[in-house]
Amino acid sequence: MSKNLSKVMLFMIAAMLVISTVMISNPGTSHAATTTYKTTDSLNVRIGPGVKYSKIATLKKGSIVTKVSTKGNWWKVKYTASKTGWVNGKYLKAVSTVTATTPSKTTYYYVTESTGLNMRASYSVSSKKVGVTIPYGAKVKIKKTAKNGWIQVAYGGKTGWINADERYGFKSTSNISYTASEPTELQYVLVHDDMNVRSLPSTAAPKLGTVTTDYAARILRVSNSNWAEVQYSDSQKGWISLRTSDTTVTNKEPDQISKPVNGSLAGIKVVVDAGHGGSDPGAGGKDLNGKFITEASLTLQSGKALKEQIEAVGGTVYMTREGNGALSSNKTTDLGLRAKYAAKKGANAFISLHYNSAAASSATGIETLYYQSTSKEFANTIHKNMMASIKEEYPTMKDRGLKYQNVMVLRENSVFATLVELGFVSNPSELSRINTDEYRAVVAEGITNGIIEYYGRD
Ligand SMILES: [Zn+2]
Repeated sequence: MSKNLSKVMLFMIAAMLVISTVMISNPGTSHAATTTYKTTDSLNVRIGPGVKYSKIATLKKGSIVTKVSTKGNWWKVKYTASKTGWVNGKYLKAVSTVTATTPSKTTYYYVTESTGLNMRASYSVSSKKVGVTIPYGAKVKIKKTAKNGWIQVAYGGKTGWINADERYGFKSTSNISYTASEPTELQYVLVHDDMNVRSLPSTAAPKLGTVTTDYAARILRVSNSNWAEVQYSDSQKGWISLRTSDTTVTNKEPDQISKPVNGSLAGIKVVVDAGHGGSDPGAGGKDLNGKFITEASLTLQSGKALKEQIEAVGGTVYMTREGNGALSSNKTTDLGLRAKYAAKKGANAFISLHYNSAAASSATGIETLYYQSTSKEFANTIHKNMMASIKEEYPTMKDRGLKYQNVMVLRENSVFATLVELGFVSNPSELSRINTDEYRAVVAEGITNGIIEYYGRD
């Protein structure tokens, strides 16, 4: 046997090994082994295999990584689409292929995200893209659902996974099919009573919001089922039923066309936590007139101002308290319930409002806290926007920055969470300045801008 032939055989064996590696590295397919792992605790990522190497990231408990190679107990893993690093393998647990379940009934996912959704090889953003974007308006059949909410679908001749978050679309067992065409001439819809605006021309589609008497908008398309598509918000189109006497269609331009709601936060749900309350007044201090003000009363007023602003741009707000009470008379129980409130409400984010206090009456300024590394960017975006808004009206207000701090409402939260300290009640001149409706509105506007920047996907 010639030397060349054995080389060919070696090449073939190598090629087969490569092929089998590729086959087992797709955790989406059943029967196959997996290279996807979940962290069983918060875990440091280092540049090399050992604690002596410097830390480059910290992964939250439950993060998904893929295995690249190992060296003793140390594993090289891919922890984002492009980043790799070394972690202690002791804290990794294989993600079983059975975490993905097949729906018992035929279920569809309708994509309502205007920029479409990238399909990936597995159920994680760190998994590689398969080269297909499922566009806005598409309907896909759900093959499997992973525990983290990602779904496996087929589209454009490929099979892959997409993030089926409520923000990007909706699931339904109804097979919503429609055709739509642009009106041949300019047409407007006039609304005579409260009408729901939906993401697709069907009552089975989720509601984006409500329009009320005297709403008027240009019709973009009309569906075969007689619904009108309108520009409901700056970023979203929506459908209004024409199959009722509560709407009329006209080709005469109405006196007043309703402006699209600035709906940048449509579909986003935020928990606003007014710190303290009940038997816990929080910190307190005297203003320049000698009047004693409690932190709990300030946070409640700020919470209401923030709720108003978020709702004004289409967002949904759940407040942990709307009166002077707390969720429990026991402080620890109360904080625990607040921390879990967002998950309970199915909210996207949690913002806790507090005011600061210090022994020195000269202490001054605003700071923002985060605990989980996954919330750092969220907290930073809120802080940056809030400070920009405050600095515009109150240029002397001190920026104390973004800080890592272990507080229960952040630590035990499972959504993006931050806590803002909106100034010092122990500083009389600062207290007089921050205990005003103007200041509360400025803060609310800044925080809302931060949420829009973080969630804005235009
Ligand atoms: Zn506080």
